[in-house]
Amino acid sequence: MYSLLIKNAIVYDGTGKPGEVLDVAVQGDEIANVAFNIKSYAQNVIDASGKILAPGFIDLQNHSDVYFQLFDNPSLDSLITQGYTTILVGNCGASLAPLLTHEALLSIQKWHSLEAANINWQSFSEFIETLSKQRLACNVASLVGYSTLRRAVVGDQIRSLEKNELQALKNALRESMEAGAFGLSNGLSYAHEIIVSELELFELAKIVKAQNGLFSVHLRSEGSEIIEALDEALDIARSTEVNLKISHLKLRNEQNWPKFPEMVSAIDTAYHQGINVHFDVYPYDTIWQALYGYLPKWAIEGGRAILLKHFADPVQKNKILMYLNNTGVKFADIEIASTANKLNFTGKTIGQIAKNMECSSEQAVLHVLENGGSEILVFEKNLDSLAVNQLLRHPLSFVGTDGAGFSNKEAGKLVHPRCFGSATKFLKQTISTGDMDLSAAIKKLTFGPAKKLGLKKRGEIKVGSFADLVLFDKEKISDNATYQNPFQFSSGIEYVFVNGKAAVADGKITGQLPGYTLRKS
Ligand SMILES: [Zn+2]
Repeated sequence: MYSLLIKNAIVYDGTGKPGEVLDVAVQGDEIANVAFNIKSYAQNVIDASGKILAPGFIDLQNHSDVYFQLFDNPSLDSLITQGYTTILVGNCGASLAPLLTHEALLSIQKWHSLEAANINWQSFSEFIETLSKQRLACNVASLVGYSTLRRAVVGDQIRSLEKNELQALKNALRESMEAGAFGLSNGLSYAHEIIVSELELFELAKIVKAQNGLFSVHLRSEGSEIIEALDEALDIARSTEVNLKISHLKLRNEQNWPKFPEMVSAIDTAYHQGINVHFDVYPYDTIWQALYGYLPKWAIEGGRAILLKHFADPVQKNKILMYLNNTGVKFADIEIASTANKLNFTGKTIGQIAKNMECSSEQAVLHVLENGGSEILVFEKNLDSLAVNQLLRHPLSFVGTDGAGFSNKEAGKLVHPRCFGSATKFLKQTISTGDMDLSAAIKKLTFGPAKKLGLKKRGEIKVGSFADLVLFDKEKISDNATYQNPFQFSSGIEYVFVNGKAAVADGKITGQLPGYTLRKS
């Protein structure tokens, strides 16, 4: 007798094999049998005729940690309802551990205000311990964020590391990986990593390589210097043989779109030279980022306190305005998604704010930055949707949300719809256009990322694997979240099982929290 038996589903095992009508039996948290017409009793039998059964989706580019949703919203509703059963957090240079000093935590404040955070760990192993007591809907694995590490040592100072400091960070990284971290992430365009040299990255990559971990890079530039930024990441992987994943690959701003073929060919060439490189993409043409990211590098070096000093100095302020005037960014169209201070800017465009203030859009940007607190996130539609589609279809890509798990109770702010609909939008598009085999699309969400991360017994439907499963209706699968109204769950996902337990049943969230905290073995 099995605990669960799913009958007659079209089973895509995740490896890229075409679908096949089979039964899948689960015992406890494992897949116990996969065969045609299993004739055994089960406590729970689901007739899945005509429906697709796939392994649970794996998101290698998730931020549920720094948005504090692992603790504020452990049911991770917006992720589980699009079929994600495993997430990798600690991306883009920021993680919740290790916290070598209190300063380290400031690395997350662009995403989440720190006032509400209740943090009772320092080392990565204490963090993992806390997380495993906290029940969650999804399985969670974490990287170590390099801003988090580095900031503990240098605080807001922008300087190179002393030899002994770099050694201390390397030791902390090694210890964290021994305690279960899956690798290291960088956020090279962020204020506290701009100064990080290629040599420093090389030293860190060697540690990650020695532990067989993942080296995840948010590139230094996603615009005019994309090729140089890519070369930097690829060089490190070339010389250290580290397992490289580029985060949320894209080309911002229309004037940079012509660089697309060169960008893709740099990756293809590197891969064919034997470099272990992949990348993730979210299926949207609008980015969601911190407003300060539009400022010149010299202005953001040193963090918010220094930035406010620049604003107070008319000469410096004017220099920043001149820079903004020449970036080619259409600031008027940028929309404020959320601010830490309640200024009612949410949902307004910079153009509308400028009109109310009777100033230029560039001046309005500075006004919002000065008054909106440290946590101002905006939407900007600046990606080429054809290029996004091409990246989604590329053999080296995965589909990542670059988002977090939110419940639909958090009104009053806007989050990027990718938090609610990345996987479902991608699958709907694949099915409706037929421009990629469904088996290849499912592999990008399952076996592909599992293999990249070195996850054992996940990402594939086979006997002995953990029973992370998604059952969906090919005709009904759809994302529903929009920029104006993001808090809308996907449809067509009928069942989501995590370690054999239903987190979604009959299309509804069950409230069960069956996820495991994963440690790198
Ligand atoms: Zn990033």
